[in-house]
Amino acid sequence: MTAVQAEQGVLAGDPRMLIDGELVQTAGGATFDVVHPASEQVAGQAADGTVDDMGRAVAAARRAFDETDWSRDLDFRVHCLTQLHEALERNKEHLRRVLITEVGCPVSVTGSQIESPIEEVKHWTEHGRKFEYLVDNGVHDTPLGPARRKLHYEAVGVVGAITPWNVPFYLNIAETVPALIAGNTVVLKPAQLTPWSGSEYGRIVAEETDIPAGVFNVVTSNANEVGAALSADPRVDMITFTGSTATGRAILAAGASTVKKTLLELGGKSAHIVLDDADFSASLPLAAMMACVMSGQSCILPSRILLPRSRYEEGLAILKASMENFPVGDPWTPGVMQGPQISETQRQKVLGLIQSGIDSGARLITGGGVPENLPVGYFTQPTLLADVDPDSQIAQEEIFGPVLTVTPYDDDDHAVAIANNSIYGLSGEVSSADVDRAFAVATRMRTGNVTINAKSHFGIDSPFGGTKQSGLGYRNGAEGFKEYLAIKTIGMPE
Ligand code: ADP
Repeated sequence: MTAVQAEQGVLAGDPRMLIDGELVQTAGGATFDVVHPASEQVAGQAADGTVDDMGRAVAAARRAFDETDWSRDLDFRVHCLTQLHEALERNKEHLRRVLITEVGCPVSVTGSQIESPIEEVKHWTEHGRKFEYLVDNGVHDTPLGPARRKLHYEAVGVVGAITPWNVPFYLNIAETVPALIAGNTVVLKPAQLTPWSGSEYGRIVAEETDIPAGVFNVVTSNANEVGAALSADPRVDMITFTGSTATGRAILAAGASTVKKTLLELGGKSAHIVLDDADFSASLPLAAMMACVMSGQSCILPSRILLPRSRYEEGLAILKASMENFPVGDPWTPGVMQGPQISETQRQKVLGLIQSGIDSGARLITGGGVPENLPVGYFTQPTLLADVDPDSQIAQEEIFGPVLTVTPYDDDDHAVAIANNSIYGLSGEVSSADVDRAFAVATRMRTGNVTINAKSHFGIDSPFGGTKQSGLGYRNGAEGFKEYLAIKTIGMPE
């Protein structure tokens, strides 16, 4: 029996916030409920922080940046983040249970949500340790004689990190650890539905690391105004955000008056172009799995499948069989790959979009409702819709459910045109027996990332970002680290 199987069951997270080095409740003691999506039961509470709490956290982060050596003492930062990595390792099974409790993510697929981010702490610590913060850019002629230019990479300042609920622990780490090792101070505002992946992170920082008071703060809240206060606060130098495009626009607007640096990873509506020479039996079952594995709650999911008209029904049959056999159920049961949607509101949104697809002429091939054997919990059937009009709402709006839409195309040009018919430009996928042909198609997709033949574009080593309304800037890779740094160019005597 693995450690995971030994230690199962709902586990409430820490109900406190971390503000200026203290694990605290909000002044009036207000809390809000956290619900386990697989049982619909309240699993515990989180602090319902206020705009005042956010103000105190930002003040602490500002002071820690302006008045301590944090931003200048790389050795100390490496020491603290090495401690953080070790502490997260020690708390791994606890964090996994808290994550499953608040997200409903199946235990069998928690590796990318627990092991990967913990590994990333180590990666970023090493990356930050080795980074060249001072680069000699050579001697250049100027009207006043030759000048040497040196580039000094410096922390941006106070970073506000706002995270969503779909992969909360991973994103809490991905948005804050590169910022911290680069010398910034941070205020983290986790999503309402998943406060504990943030509060547990705060507890571990406070109890098990030497990270100084104010350098890292976590403010949980059930109110959007608290995130809005962070994104508008003039004491904050940068916002890093993952979430919906609508909220991204609000954050960009809120930061405009103080010209905040803003890193946005927003929505997607990615297309998977299956070329007519592709191995359908390899690519389509995987496509179905990707749609279901996080209950479809993933921004990079290629949710629009484009099939060649010549092999359309063949492709639909494979997708249908894969979705009908997908293991949906209790997230604590090993082998289950799809859990519930995170909330009833989200499930209703998904079911509403499926209905809008049917209303606009799409053909329901399988799914479309609630699994009969799972009346409790916010479960949704894996759903396949064919003949989807590329201009319809279901082809244009992010669904965030276990739903694939399928649209036929005539030739490669037509497929590319349908794929690019979107306000989003996050990811894409191409399947073909001919990798050169797939590559040519990939270069024509207006997205930040493309996967060819299931070889994923996503990883800590390579930049990840969206084009069009899918985002600004990059996470991951050397580029992702530099986002948390400003360059000071110093002209000086040779
Ligand atoms: P979703 O729509 O999927 O719930 P959102 O993009 O609304 O996701 O939320 C992601 C994060 O943004 C959450 O932490 C949420 O609290 C926060 N948020 C929501 N509205 C705002 C806002 N106006 N300003 C800043 N943060 C916000």
